Formats: sequence, structure tokens, C-alpha cells
Amino acid sequence: MAETLGFIGLGIMGRPMAKNLMKAGYGLVVLDVNPAPVEELVGMGATAAKTPAEVASQVKKIITMLPDGPDVEKVVTGENGIIEAATSETILIDMSSISPTVTQKVVAALKEKGARALDAPVSGGEPGAIKGELAIMVGGPEDLFNEVKPIFEVLGKSAVLVGDTAAGQTTKLTNQILVGIHIQAMGEAFLLACKAGYDPIRVYEAIKGGLAGSNVLNAKIPLVTERNFKPGFKMRLHQKDLKNALEAASALGLKLPVTDMVKGFVDSLVSKGKGDDDHGGLIQELEALNNAEIRKLQ
Ligand code: NAD
Repeated sequence: MAETLGFIGLGIMGRPMAKNLMKAGYGLVVLDVNPAPVEELVGMGATAAKTPAEVASQVKKIITMLPDGPDVEKVVTGENGIIEAATSETILIDMSSISPTVTQKVVAALKEKGARALDAPVSGGEPGAIKGELAIMVGGPEDLFNEVKPIFEVLGKSAVLVGDTAAGQTTKLTNQILVGIHIQAMGEAFLLACKAGYDPIRVYEAIKGGLAGSNVLNAKIPLVTERNFKPGFKMRLHQKDLKNALEAASALGLKLPVTDMVKGFVDSLVSKGKGDDDHGGLIQELEALNNAEIRKLQ
């Protein structure tokens, strides 16, 4: 068996990622506040821990896949956090998408104990996590990146070291700007086609091989036209990413007007109780504005 790793955060993404690591021969010490995925992983041979410190006392490398920066801070530097049991041998691989500022804070705190860290957020969604085909965007020291590469090879189809600490998180923000605006663009384009009376699937088939074809269309058009907004990637998580992107832009003196507008639509939908919809559901704000829907012809 390969070494035993820690895995904290077994949600939509973390659960299949942890399973892939076990299938590849890694042992796992797992933790989630939700007991169901923990039981499932224990059923596959993993060990359950009660606190992040307990995870850190049993393994050297710990992967976190948590919703947001405050969750990562709590798990790493909070009470019974990883930091309490961290040593100079501890390596944190944070694969959550969080603010680059929080990453800098958490990594600095770990450094005081001699521990090392990589930020390694991902793209590819639940299907990419299940297939082990995520795109992994990494920030941190190159020697550490090379040391943990075998783990990335199990989880992803690519892992690129972009730069120092937090470079992975900044890259993920660029990814989320592109995806958010692209979903909005998809909504506007396909609402036009539907209102004109054409089948959105036929329109998609006609354009997917051209310049406007994309992974976003491939993933979202089949779901949106079936009115399937089950996550996937929760709208409230995209809201967090766009907030972080606009904060990072503001700190650099940048204005991102279209990102700002898309975030406004996301904010509105979340305030209407749609935070747990898939982010493909972003098109619903545009639909409400136009009193029209993107729907497959029967
Ligand atoms: P999720 O909400 O499904 O999973 C998060 C898990 O963390 C949950 O099981 C939750 O119980 C657990 N958790 C929260 N706080 C905890 C704590 N203090 N201790 C232990 N466990 C805790 O979210 P997800 O969709 O798996 O996303 C995880 C991260 O990956 C997010 O940062 C998200 O932005 C990013 N991401 C998601 C997708 C996607 O398509 N879902 C794609 C790329 C990146």
C-alpha cells in the first residue's frame, strides 16, 4: 500500500476524490462534519478521525476540500485544528477554492510550526472528480509540488504549478470569472434562440464544433434545457468565488465590470433561495427578466 493520507471535507468533490485515492492504493484518515460520507469511506477501509488535529497526528500529508476560506481557517488554525498536531513533516494540500489572502494567512501560520503547504484548487466539477480528471492549479514551492505529484496524478488529468503560495487560488479565480461570464453568455445566446422558436439542442449541436463551442456549453446545455439545476457546483460557492475575484481585483486596482454584473445576478438568485441550485441555474435571473425560458422543444 502507498502511504496513508489525511482527507478533510468529503462533499460533492471530496468524496469521489477520496475514493479515487483509496482505489489507487492510498490509505486514508478521513473527517467530515457530515457522518454519511465518512461511513462510506470507512466501509472502504479508511479510518475516521474526530478532529483535524487527530488527522494531523496520524499522517504527514493532509488534503482539505472544504467550502470556503473560513472553513479552511477553522480546520487548520482553529481549536483542535491541524496546526495543533503539525510538525516539520506536515504537508497541507488545500484543494478548496478560497481567497488567496486566506491562503497566505494559513500557510504563514503553518510555517511557524515548520509545516509546508500547497494551494491546489481544481476545475472539472463532480464528473472530473469522479473520473480523476480534474484540472489542478497549484501554488507553492516547486520541490513540494514535485513531492506530491503522484497524488495529483490520481486526482487530475493536469496539475500545473503556476507560482508561489496562493498562485493556485488566483488562477482558480480567473477560472471562475471565465465560467461565470460564460454561463451568463450561454443564457443570453440560448434565450434568443428559444424565443425565436428553435430547439436549443439543435442550436447547440450546430455551434459546438465552432469557435463558440466550449466545455461550459458541453456540461451545462444538456442540464439547463432539461431544467435540471441539481448541483454540481452550488450557486452559493460560485458567489463566494466571484466575491473573492472582485476583492482580489480591487486590491490590484482593477475594475471588472462584467464579473461585477454577473455577481449581481448570482447574489439576487441566492437571496431568492437558489443558493443550492447548480450554477447553471444562473440563467434563471435572465429568464425572469425576460419572462421566457430556455427549454428543450418537446
Ligand atoms: P460541498 O459543500 O459539497 O462539500 C464540502 C464538505 O466539507 C461537506 O461535506 C461539509 O460537510 C464539509 N465540511 C464543512 N466544514 C467542515 C469542517 N469544519 N470540518 C469537516 N468537514 C467540513 O462542496 P464541494 O462542491 O465539494 O466543494 C468543495 C470545494 O471545491 C469548494 O471550495 C468549491 O468551491 C470547490 N469546487 C467545487 C466544484 C464542484 O463542481 N462542486 C468544482 C471545483 C471546485
